[in-house]
Amino acid sequence: MSLPLTAVSPSSRLRLERSVFLWQLLLAGAVLLLVCIALSMAGDISRPELFFLGVSVIFAATAGAGVVPWGRLGKNWTMIIPIIDILAVVALRVAEPMLGAGLFLIFPVLWLATYFGLFGAITGPVLSTAALTAGLLVIDNPTAGTWIIGVLIIPVVLVFVSTATYVGTRKTQAQRVLLRQQAELLESAFGRARQDERTLDQVMNTVTFGVVALNRFGRPTIINSAYRRWLDEFGTPASAYFPAVDYQEDGVTPFEPGQRPHERMLRGESFDNLIVWYGEPGQKRLALGMTSRALTNAEGQREGAVLVSRDLTSEIDAIRSRDDLVASVSHELRTPLTSILGYLELTLDGDALTETDRGYVDIALANADRLLSIVSDLLLVSQEERVGFLLNFAPTDLAVLAKQSIQSLKPVADERRISLLLTSIGSPVVYADEFRVRQVIDNLLSNAVKYNHSGGRVSVAVIGDDDEVEIFISDTGRGMTPDEQSNLFQRFYRAESVRNSSIHGTGLGLAISQEIIRAHEGDIRVSASSPSGTTMVITLPREQEEVDE
Ligand code: ATP
Ligand code: MG
Repeated sequence: MSLPLTAVSPSSRLRLERSVFLWQLLLAGAVLLLVCIALSMAGDISRPELFFLGVSVIFAATAGAGVVPWGRLGKNWTMIIPIIDILAVVALRVAEPMLGAGLFLIFPVLWLATYFGLFGAITGPVLSTAALTAGLLVIDNPTAGTWIIGVLIIPVVLVFVSTATYVGTRKTQAQRVLLRQQAELLESAFGRARQDERTLDQVMNTVTFGVVALNRFGRPTIINSAYRRWLDEFGTPASAYFPAVDYQEDGVTPFEPGQRPHERMLRGESFDNLIVWYGEPGQKRLALGMTSRALTNAEGQREGAVLVSRDLTSEIDAIRSRDDLVASVSHELRTPLTSILGYLELTLDGDALTETDRGYVDIALANADRLLSIVSDLLLVSQEERVGFLLNFAPTDLAVLAKQSIQSLKPVADERRISLLLTSIGSPVVYADEFRVRQVIDNLLSNAVKYNHSGGRVSVAVIGDDDEVEIFISDTGRGMTPDEQSNLFQRFYRAESVRNSSIHGTGLGLAISQEIIRAHEGDIRVSASSPSGTTMVITLPREQEEVDE
């Protein structure tokens, strides 16, 4: 039995009408019971006409409650019924106080207090008390008990019922409003979440990289369409999110069990740009660069993982084609170049040349020599299968190597008024390949001079301690941006500003240097770089037990 605050929609109108009728039916039922009791004590009713009138009014009101279209009239009009009830019940009480009909006032008072706010809560008891008092005045010689019950007990009970109902209803209404607000809030949050989910879904299926997300039970929650397409291309069943077999970066070695990307992802491991091949060697293939991260909830606990894959097939194919081309061109160039060098040396060995011609041939020889070293470098870095360096390890004095390197570079440095300085602290001897380490120092020194300003400085410091020897090569040149530093050791990498300048180079010097130093189990890195200069550092392990000092 609930009355809406405002009756507008057909359904709420119907609810109002039904509720009015039910409330009234309750009282009518009680009155019917009273009539039965009254009939059993026939003749004892003091004012049968008044009793009959009261009962008739209540039944008429009940009929009215069922027939009148309250929904169309509005809620306020329904107040008439409990007011009529009050008057009718008072009539029943006046007709025969012994029947206790006065208690029936509780019905209309409850009704008024429930649906008509403070006004209803006051009207019920006030009207009842007034009517009861008026009724007592009508009765001939009412007893003291009748007075006490009529103007004291019943009104007090009614005030209590009315107040309690009013307060209870207010509370219920407030709770209902709160509940409705919460429901609306929840609904709008759900709506937003659904919209976010739709957006995420659309974004995921628009991007060209593959995305797989797993929940904490390892079940996939996202497999975007790009990734699904790749899986389909390699006949992966729809229930799986990884192919039957995947290969490592070399394209032929399958991953060890437990090391496959999806297994690592399941364990919550993070990895970046792991190169993975899908498809059997010799057949249609796909190279993916995979990055994985664990997903966490607001408390920082692991909630699953995500794997993002980028198609690197054409990139890797392009690099391979470039390397193939570079390898075959440099290989083809090497033979005629070696021959040129041989003949130039033979020419120099003869006596037929004038001094001027000898000078020219010397220049030709130096340039052919330089060309041969470039071609050798190109060949070295473009070989697909790195055969590694054939290193001849022997005790090597790095200070001596640095000195020789400085001497050979001095003419170029002098031309640009760049000073070269060498310091050495501690024992500079390591167990290394002298020729290759000299190549590295040459590369770093040549960079320090090449990318320096005229009149600048280059200092080399060889510092030995118990376990290793470090060579610091500092310049006062142009420096490098953090982005340049991160690409420095990539083959063919040259900074954008350098490419557009007149400073020549192939971008191979540092890549080769890094390979050489790694083959020595050492390290080469940028120690510091700013617009006022760069310091590069090479670390070589001393391997003392092997060193024959
Ligand atoms: P080459 O193969 O002839 O050595 P390169 O000098 O261009 O050519 P790297 O020695 O590998 O190639 O150096 C790569 C890039 O790093 C350079 O092109 C330059 O942009 C940057 N670089 C290297 N050393 C320095 C330095 N000391 N100061 C500023 N930039 C440098
Ligand atoms: Mg260089």
